[in-house]
Amino acid sequence: MAENKGVLVYGELTDGKLAAITTELLGCGRRLADDLKEDLSCLLASDMLGEASKEVIAFGADKVYEVEDPSLRQYQADSYMQVVEKLVKDTSPRAILIGQTSLGRDLAPRLAFRLGVGLATDCLDLSIDPETKLLLQTRPVYGGNAQAIFFSELMPQVVTIRTKAMSPMERDESRKGEIISIKLEIDMSKVRTATLEVVKEEVAGVKLEDAPVIVSGGRGIGGPEPFQTTLKKLADLLHGAVGATRPPADNGWVPEATHIGLTGKIVAPDIYIAIAMSGASQHIAGCSGSKNIIAINKDPEANIFKEATLGVVGRYEEVVPAFTNKLKELLAS
Ligand SMILES: Cc1cc2nc3c(=O)[nH]c(=O)nc-3n(C[C@H](O)[C@H](O)[C@H](O)COP(=O)(O)OP(=O)(O)OC[C@H]3O[C@@H](n4cnc5c(N)ncnc54)[C@H](O)[C@@H]3O)c2cc1C
Repeated sequence: MAENKGVLVYGELTDGKLAAITTELLGCGRRLADDLKEDLSCLLASDMLGEASKEVIAFGADKVYEVEDPSLRQYQADSYMQVVEKLVKDTSPRAILIGQTSLGRDLAPRLAFRLGVGLATDCLDLSIDPETKLLLQTRPVYGGNAQAIFFSELMPQVVTIRTKAMSPMERDESRKGEIISIKLEIDMSKVRTATLEVVKEEVAGVKLEDAPVIVSGGRGIGGPEPFQTTLKKLADLLHGAVGATRPPADNGWVPEATHIGLTGKIVAPDIYIAIAMSGASQHIAGCSGSKNIIAINKDPEANIFKEATLGVVGRYEEVVPAFTNKLKELLAS
């Protein structure tokens, strides 16, 4: 096999457009490739790629491998794996960056297994060891209570990266790169499952991951109703979204999709209003990228105050309506 060289990003599309995670991976990949003085490439596989390859170059790639095939309309492990495995074997990258998304969580372990190499999932940071040129992979351990740095001497080094952990580059339309179209015969006899139906999650208002403000409630909220009234009123006023810790989702007070943390969504809004939650590390793992955390808790010793930029000690039933009313007043004046 050829010497392993360069960084390869697995590119994801959402509704035919480059997914945000892909721009984040390209930002990180560009930094690593520059440190290595090697190329950054990206694999795009879909039934229709449109302008996505040009976007990949504008966001930092030197090379794009495009695989367009009708059988790639929806992610399906058996068909996609054929594409990724073949490309990796043909191009021998040093490192492969995949998003810690539902697709990435499925694809990356399969790929690592097929290649007989290791896999570090949910990485928060990546850098290059200047002496060994190995990828230093920072990821959470002990349920998010600590972080550890891993490396693997097996090539290629495969990692998945948490969403919002990396920053994309400024989009630059003048960047030049190479687009390589690859024709692949996908062996449909190896494709053992089919997607029969895709049910899109209905989101009223702003999507949690995109919201600049999140009003998030914990177990101390006490039931489903205040999420739909007290918290929602404040979120609407701030053009934000309502989020939650895991217990409200487990109790069925809020939809499962609003649960934030290690086992839920990762968010990074400008303002995260953390109401009646203790600030457990597994929850903080999902919101620590927020620019400002404002905590409201009746217990002055609650851990959330250690994470917060601003804090109010008090019962949320009093603090939140008073805050909402004052805000309304200020916005009206
Ligand atoms: C493997 C694993 C993964 C996990 N993943 C996640 C995850 O992804 N996300 C997540 O959130 N959790 C997760 N957890 C659970 C996590 O450990 C905590 O149990 C959980 O985050 C606690 O939720 P909470 O802060 O809402 O509740 P609690 O810890 O019970 O805190 C409730 C808080 O509300 C305050 N309070 C009560 N009443 C009021 C009031 N009227 N006004 C103001 N304050 C009030 C209390 O003072 C208290 O601080 C995970 C746990 C494990 C083991």
